[in-house]
Amino acid sequence: MKIKSDFNDVDALGDDHIGSSSDTPLRADAFELTSSEKIDSIKADVKHILETLGLDLNDDSLKGTPNRVAKMFVNEIFGGLDPAKKPSASTFDNKYKYGEMLVEKNITVYSTCEHHLLPIVGRAHIAYISNGTVVGLSKMNRIVDYFAKRPQVQERLTIQIVKELQNVLNTEDVACVIDAKHLCVNSRGIRDIESSTVTSEFGGKFKETETRRELLDYIQLDTQF
Ligand SMILES: [Zn+2]
Repeated sequence: MKIKSDFNDVDALGDDHIGSSSDTPLRADAFELTSSEKIDSIKADVKHILETLGLDLNDDSLKGTPNRVAKMFVNEIFGGLDPAKKPSASTFDNKYKYGEMLVEKNITVYSTCEHHLLPIVGRAHIAYISNGTVVGLSKMNRIVDYFAKRPQVQERLTIQIVKELQNVLNTEDVACVIDAKHLCVNSRGIRDIESSTVTSEFGGKFKETETRRELLDYIQLDTQF
């Protein structure tokens, strides 16, 4: 991608949601503090932000906010930065010799845009073709959730999910499509509540037109339950 010279400005890069790499950019000292040390430090920072904005933190409604936000950042919405929380890679042998593609669709995605720290809400559709190894269905949801719980760029999230499944399943034949709304676009800036962003990553056989077409047909298939 060619970036226009006026995008050299970091504000412009963030506003246009241009990501830099497929790995989450982490500092070398990312895990030197314990979770509770991180919560204490962030708590003081959130208090500072709110007070700078002019809010009175003696008010009963606001009093617990710094601690609540700090805990939410470390344990919940950014909990996927911690490699210890990565879902374990338990796989099974494919006893049924099922050689067709398996699609897990409409997996709920809750993530956070790393440029504005506002929510990304959407759905992920994942597919793989087994080479003899299969993974529990809920494992795919957990992998999505783990990578979503980070400050994210949707393109990176899509790639990280595919790479992890390729690793776990020991095959290149993995694909992921994500359709999501970014609250930084929907609720501020351009304020477009209708638009959503679609990203996709097709590995191995999914690069072939016919296989990709089959996957996209399954995603569109509307089953009545
Ligand atoms: Zn954003």
